[in-house]
Amino acid sequence: MWWSGTCHRLIAATLERMSVESIFPRLEALLPKVQKPIQYVGGELNSTVKDWDSADVRWALMYPDAYEVGLPNQGVAILYEILNELPATLAERTYAVWPDLEALMRAEGVPQFTVDAHRPVRAFDVLGVSFSTELGYTNMLTALDLAGIPLPAVDRGEDDPIVLAGGHAAFNPEPIADFLDAAVLGDGEQISIAISEVVREWKAEGRPGGRDELLMRLAESGGVYVPKFYDVDYHPDGRIKRVAPNRADVPWRVHKHTVMDLDEWPYPKKPLVPLAETVHERFSVEIFRGCTRGCRFCQAGMITRPVRERSITTIGAMVENGIKESGFNEVGLLSLSSADHSEIGDVAKGLADRYEGTNTSLSLPSTRVDAFNIDLANEFSRNGRRSGLTFAPEGGSERMRKVINKMVTEEDLIRTVSTAYSQGWRQVKLYFMCGLPTEEDEDVLGIADLAKKVIQAGREATGSRDIRCTVSIGGFVPKPHTPFQWAGQADHETVDRRLKALRDSLRGDKQYGRAIGFRYHDGKPSIVEGLLSRGDRRVGAVIRAVWEDGGRFDGWSEHFSYERWMSAAEKAGVDVGWYTTREREENEILPWDHLDAGLDREWLWQDWQEAVSGAEVEDCRWTPCYDCGVCPTMGTEIQIGPTGRKLLPLTVV
Ligand code: SF4
Repeated sequence: MWWSGTCHRLIAATLERMSVESIFPRLEALLPKVQKPIQYVGGELNSTVKDWDSADVRWALMYPDAYEVGLPNQGVAILYEILNELPATLAERTYAVWPDLEALMRAEGVPQFTVDAHRPVRAFDVLGVSFSTELGYTNMLTALDLAGIPLPAVDRGEDDPIVLAGGHAAFNPEPIADFLDAAVLGDGEQISIAISEVVREWKAEGRPGGRDELLMRLAESGGVYVPKFYDVDYHPDGRIKRVAPNRADVPWRVHKHTVMDLDEWPYPKKPLVPLAETVHERFSVEIFRGCTRGCRFCQAGMITRPVRERSITTIGAMVENGIKESGFNEVGLLSLSSADHSEIGDVAKGLADRYEGTNTSLSLPSTRVDAFNIDLANEFSRNGRRSGLTFAPEGGSERMRKVINKMVTEEDLIRTVSTAYSQGWRQVKLYFMCGLPTEEDEDVLGIADLAKKVIQAGREATGSRDIRCTVSIGGFVPKPHTPFQWAGQADHETVDRRLKALRDSLRGDKQYGRAIGFRYHDGKPSIVEGLLSRGDRRVGAVIRAVWEDGGRFDGWSEHFSYERWMSAAEKAGVDVGWYTTREREENEILPWDHLDAGLDREWLWQDWQEAVSGAEVEDCRWTPCYDCGVCPTMGTEIQIGPTGRKLLPLTVV
C-alpha cells in the first residue's frame, strides 16, 4: 500500500536525523560505584571509533559475557576489524555488564552501550551476538532489556536493531529463536559483509517494507536463518512433527558458511590490547580451522569441517605483524588441535629461532597426545617457560576412548608424559569427561589408574618424586550435529556418584594420591547446558523465566543456580529429563534438522551406531574420504600442506 512505503520512509528519515550521543557522561558518574570500572571505558590500543554519520550500516557486536572473557574472543575481534574496514560500515563492541553496574544503569536509566564510543546499542542497525556457549543466553536478554529492545522479536519495531546470533551455539538457536531476528551458521567473515550490503541497499532504498522486508531479503539468500519465517508443529507426545517455512521463497534448509582460503583473511591484523585484566593476554593466530579427527563428542570438530590450513608464510607474517601492532609478548597458535598442522614443526622452529633471546614466548593451547612431539614442546619453551602441559585423553578407559573415537592408547599417553617429565616438565594436566555414552563406573575409575601410572612413569623417568599431575573433569553434554546428538545424557546423580568414587580412589591412594590434583564440577550445570544445547523453541520460556528471576552469568559457578533453572522449567511446563536424559530414535525430527552444517544425517547415525559398538573412524586428512557429507554438500574440500614454503625470510630478532 502506498502509505506503508511512505510511512517507512518517514520513519527512516527521522531515524537518520536523530543524533546519537555518547552516554559516557552518565555512565562515568556510576563507575566509581562498581567493581573493575576500567572494563567499561574502551579506548584500548587498536580500538576503532568511526564517525557515526559517515557510516550507512552500523553494527554493535556483543560477546555475551564479561569484558575479561569477551575481549580475547577471536570471532568478535575478526568481525570488528573486517566490518570497520568497510568504508560505509562501522562496528563497535558491547559486553555483558556485571550485576552491580546493571542495577545502577536501571536506577539511572542508562542504556546498554558500546565500549568504543559509548553509543546506545539500540541506535545500531544490527546487534550481532556471538555465542560460544549456551550459558550466555540470559546475558543476551539482560543486554536487550537494558538497551530498550523488546525481548520477543515479534514485538520489535522499525527503530530496533536486527538481533543476529552467530558462533557455535547458533547451530541450534531454537531455544532463543523467540528473541532473535536472525542467526548465521559458520564462518562470519564473508557473510557479515554480505549482510552489511543487504542492509545498506535496503536503507538506501528508504527501507521499503520495513524490517519484515529486510528480514525477507536476508532469509531468501539461504545464508541467514530467520526463525519467524519457520513454523514448528509438534506431535501430541511432544516430539517435533514438522518444521516448515511459512513464506514462499524462504528455503527449507539454511546452510552454514565456510571460508575456503584463510590466507585471504589474515585477521586480526590489529589485535585489541585490553586495558583491564582478561583471561588471555596474548596475540592469537588461528593456524587452521576445522578438525576431521572425528571425536564423536566434539561439536566444534564436526561443525567446522573440513580442515583448512593457513599457510606457514601467512602464519609467520601474522605473528610478526601482530606483535608489532600490539606489543604482546606471548603468541598463541590456535586451532582445535594445533599440533596437527602439516607444517607445525617448521612453524615452531622458525618462530622459536626468530624470537630466541627476546621476551616473546610461544604457546600451543591445544595439543593431542598422539600428535604431540617433544621436539615441538622444546621449541615452544625455548624462551624459558615450562609452565605445564595439558593433554586430553577424554575417556578413562581404552573402551571409552574407542566409543568417543579418541584414538589415544594408554601406551601413547605414558610414552608422551614420560618424555615430557624427562625433558624437564614437572606438571602435566589431563582432561577427561564424565557421563559419556555407554559409560560405566569402572570407566571413570580408570581415570585414577591412568593418573597413577602417569606419576609412576614420571618418577621412573626422572628419578625424582617432584612430579605432579592434575586431573580435570568436565561433564559430557550431547551436542547437536554430532553422532551423539541422539544420546541420552547421564543424569547428574550418576555423574556425581562416579566423580565421588574417583575422588575417593585418588585421595585414598597413599603412594600417588598426594601427587595428583583433582578438579571437577558437579553434574548439575551440564544438565542445564544439555537442556539449552538440544532444546527447541519451547525452552525459550524457561530461559526468559530464569532471566526474570535474576539469572545472569550462568557460565560462572558463583552466579549459576540449578534450582532457579529447575523451578523455571517446572513453571513453564518443560520436562528437563525429556530434553536431556532421553535417548532419541533415528527418525525423530531434531530441532536443528533444518539447519545444515553439511554433515550427512545418515552418516551421523551410522557413526553413532559404530560408537556403541566401539568401532573407530580414521582422520580423512590422511586416509580416504569416508563420506561424512560436508565437502560435497558445502562445495568445500580439505586443504592441507605441506606447502613447502618458508615461514618468512628469516630475520632473527
Ligand atoms: S566429506 Fe570426506 S573429506 Fe570431506 S570432511 Fe567429510 S570425510 Fe573428510
